[in-house]
Amino acid sequence: LGGVMKEPPMHIVHIAVEMAPIAKIGGLGDVVTSLSRAVQDMNHNVDIILPKYDCLNFDHVKDLKFHKSYFWGGTEIKVWSGKVEGLSVYFLEPQNGLFWVGCVYGRNNDGERFGFFCHAALEFLLQGGFHPDIIHCHDWSSAPVAWLFKDHYRHYGLSKARVVFTIHNLEYGAPLIAKAMEFSDKATTVSPTYAREISGNPSIAPNIFKFHGILNGIDPDIWDPYNDKFIPVSYTSENVVEGKNAAKGALQQRLGLRRDDLPLIGIISRLTHQKGIHLIKHAIWRTLERGGQVILLGSAPDHRIQNDFINLANQLHSSYNDRARLCLSYDEPLSHLIYAGADFVLIPSIFEPCGLTQLTAMRYGSIPIARKTGGLYDTVFDVDHDKERAQGHGLEPNGFNFDGADAAGVDYALNRAISAWYDGREWLNSLCKRVMEQDWSWNRPALSYLELYHAARK
Ligand code: ADP
Repeated sequence: LGGVMKEPPMHIVHIAVEMAPIAKIGGLGDVVTSLSRAVQDMNHNVDIILPKYDCLNFDHVKDLKFHKSYFWGGTEIKVWSGKVEGLSVYFLEPQNGLFWVGCVYGRNNDGERFGFFCHAALEFLLQGGFHPDIIHCHDWSSAPVAWLFKDHYRHYGLSKARVVFTIHNLEYGAPLIAKAMEFSDKATTVSPTYAREISGNPSIAPNIFKFHGILNGIDPDIWDPYNDKFIPVSYTSENVVEGKNAAKGALQQRLGLRRDDLPLIGIISRLTHQKGIHLIKHAIWRTLERGGQVILLGSAPDHRIQNDFINLANQLHSSYNDRARLCLSYDEPLSHLIYAGADFVLIPSIFEPCGLTQLTAMRYGSIPIARKTGGLYDTVFDVDHDKERAQGHGLEPNGFNFDGADAAGVDYALNRAISAWYDGREWLNSLCKRVMEQDWSWNRPALSYLELYHAARK
């Protein structure tokens, strides 16, 4: 690694369709921003190319200005530059209106829109005289970069570049992912266990030799209980009990819940099959049965699921008005308050490539209760069962986990967590302190990416 650090800076360009906090739908958006910041902090040069959506959150874009305009694909493309979280971003705005549709995903021509964007982005790099070392693309949405580069750009001005492709979720766009696996120089996914779980998949298997699992991190400046304008009292592991109590009170007040010291379970999730909807529902009822409070923040892209949760919310808000709140929207500030105010954060995913929720929860001293799958398996170590496995990673156990995808499975972990709250508060407080002190930042994973970037250039 010492060798890696001494080599001259690389130029890395991400071509992506999500970026936190200006166009964030899920973990992909977080990773683009936080990995880039970590790599930039290690003195490499990073640029990001993103569509200029009309729905971008422009409040977080600094120094936005017109950069240039060029023609490609029969249309004029205006390029804007700006700074987001200290990163240089180029926004492509094709004048055919492909990104003036009020959303990132969800149009019936998403594939065509993003395919156009990928090609336009490579054209921008070529026409702009960029000579990146690495072009990093992500998921099905910027997968076309891998083969468009090899077909149209490798032999021209961009010959120095190597393509790295990261799979954040294999569930969507498998054929595109298979093709990008073939054409990229190196490919990754976002945890070692997910890499193993999908290694036999026909999209992956033929190219397994260039495939690596590198755990995601979280950005400790973006998620920082000592410096977070959405929580009432700043805290570190030194005053975690005081800080979390204040956050719990503020959360209860904001949502109109009974202001009392009860075991509080938080759930922050997209509501899709992947996230274990039936287990989430079961856990809500079990928590209430055991006298706890439960707060769910989530939204469902599928209207039937959204309606189902609206019905559940109505039912819970009438029978458990002082102890249950379902907030069925996307609300970043509220998510911060839940991470800080909850005692436990539940993540019962059916599959989970990495999962950022459990890492953020730990950063705020909330104890994860998670199903043993993908990146959850790599980051949550059970206090009763995983001491050795944790120590293999240089860690102490940090949560509660379970195997099965049924009620008995989730109950096993949830019941132990709630019992610990009732019967072992001091022990639980020391666990909060311990999880806060674990390092889930990009420090280590960013070095793994740098090694991979170097290997791609060999
Ligand atoms: P995925 O990318 O599959 O949705 P991750 O755990 O990788 O899952 O990332 C989810 C991210 O989105 C986390 O940062 C989480 O806090 C955030 N998130 C999910 N749902 C909401 C919501 N309704 N409001 C605010 N933030 C949310």
